[in-house]
Amino acid sequence: MILVLDNNITQQQADALVKRLEFMGFQTVKLGSDGDLNITLLSGIDENTDIEQFLALPGVIEIKQIDDQFKLAGKATHPGKTVIELNGITIGGHELVVMAGPCSIESEKQIFETAKLVAEAGANILRGGAFKPRTSPYDFQGLGEQGLRYLSAAGKAHKLSTVSEVIATEYVDLVAEHIDILQIGARNMQNFNLLKAVGAIRKPVLLKRGFSATYKDLLMAAEYILSAGNPNVILCERGIRTFETYTRNTLDITAVPALHELSHLPIVVDPSHGTGKRSLVAPMARAAVAAGADGIMVEVHPNPDESLSDAKQTISPETFSKLMSSLTEIKKVTNEDE
Ligand code: PEP
Ligand code: MN
Repeated sequence: MILVLDNNITQQQADALVKRLEFMGFQTVKLGSDGDLNITLLSGIDENTDIEQFLALPGVIEIKQIDDQFKLAGKATHPGKTVIELNGITIGGHELVVMAGPCSIESEKQIFETAKLVAEAGANILRGGAFKPRTSPYDFQGLGEQGLRYLSAAGKAHKLSTVSEVIATEYVDLVAEHIDILQIGARNMQNFNLLKAVGAIRKPVLLKRGFSATYKDLLMAAEYILSAGNPNVILCERGIRTFETYTRNTLDITAVPALHELSHLPIVVDPSHGTGKRSLVAPMARAAVAAGADGIMVEVHPNPDESLSDAKQTISPETFSKLMSSLTEIKKVTNEDE
C-alpha cells in the first residue's frame, strides 16, 4: 500500500509520519529519491486493517493499493527504470555498463595490468574477487582485505569503478569501505541475513541469480535488499543448472526481457560463469546486449591460462577489446528500439 503525501509536506513532517506508522506496527519504506516522499507500507496490513485511518493522518492525501507481489522490485511503485549513478556512469540508462577483470585478484601487478588493459578497451567497472566462494576448500580462496586494497587502487589509477563479492555479513563494512559495488554471489542469493546487511548500506549491490532460482526467487531476494532501505540493486543473470553438461551453466537470455517486464531494476549478464567456456563468452555477451541487458560482466586476465581460478572461461584482453567494439554497436541499436 502506498500513502501518497501532500506535495507541500516537509521532510521533517514525512519523517514524523514514518515514526508514527512504525509505532502503529507497520514496516515502511520511503519511495524514490528526488524529493518524492511518498511512503510504502510493506507489512503489518491484513484484512482487518482499517484503510481509512491512514487518510486521517496529517499529510496523507491518497492511498494506492499495490497488487504486485514484488512491492518494491516490481513496477507498481516505480513505473520508470531505476538508473543508478556511480562516479560519472549510469547503470540502467542508455550507457552500456561493462564490468571486466579477473575472477580473482591474484597480485598487485596482475590487477593493475588488467585494469590498464580493460580501461583502454572501454570497460567502466573493474571486477575481481578478494573473498572467493570456491566449490573446493583446497582451491585458491582469494587475497582477502589486501586484495580489496589492490582492486581499489587499480580502479582509481585507471578511473574505473570497482565491484567485488561479499560472502558474509561480517565483511560488508570492510568491502563497502574499499569497493564501489558489492556483489552477492549465486551461492548467497538467498542468504537473507547477508541481503539485509547490504540493504542497510547505500552502495549499489550486484545481486547474482542462484543456480536454481526462478525469476520470482531472484526478485524476492532483491525485495530483501530494497525493503531494508537500499534502492540501488542491480540484477545479474549468470546461468542456471540444467541437464546440459557441455556448458558449465545454461545462460538464460530470456531472463533479460522477462526481468525488464517484471521489474524496474537494471540487469547485467555474466556470460563467463554463464557458459564456463572462453569460446562462448563473446557470442553470449553480444546476445545479452541484443536482448536488452544494461550491462555485462566478463572475466578477463592478461594471461588467461595462468588464472588461479576460472581459467577456462577467462578471455584475453585482445578478445575483450574486439568484443567491446561490437557491443557498443549492438547497444546503439537496442537503445533506438526502446
Ligand atoms: C564471481 O563472479 O566471481 C562468482 C563467483 O560468480 P557466481 O557467484 O555467479 O558463481
Ligand atoms: Mn569466476
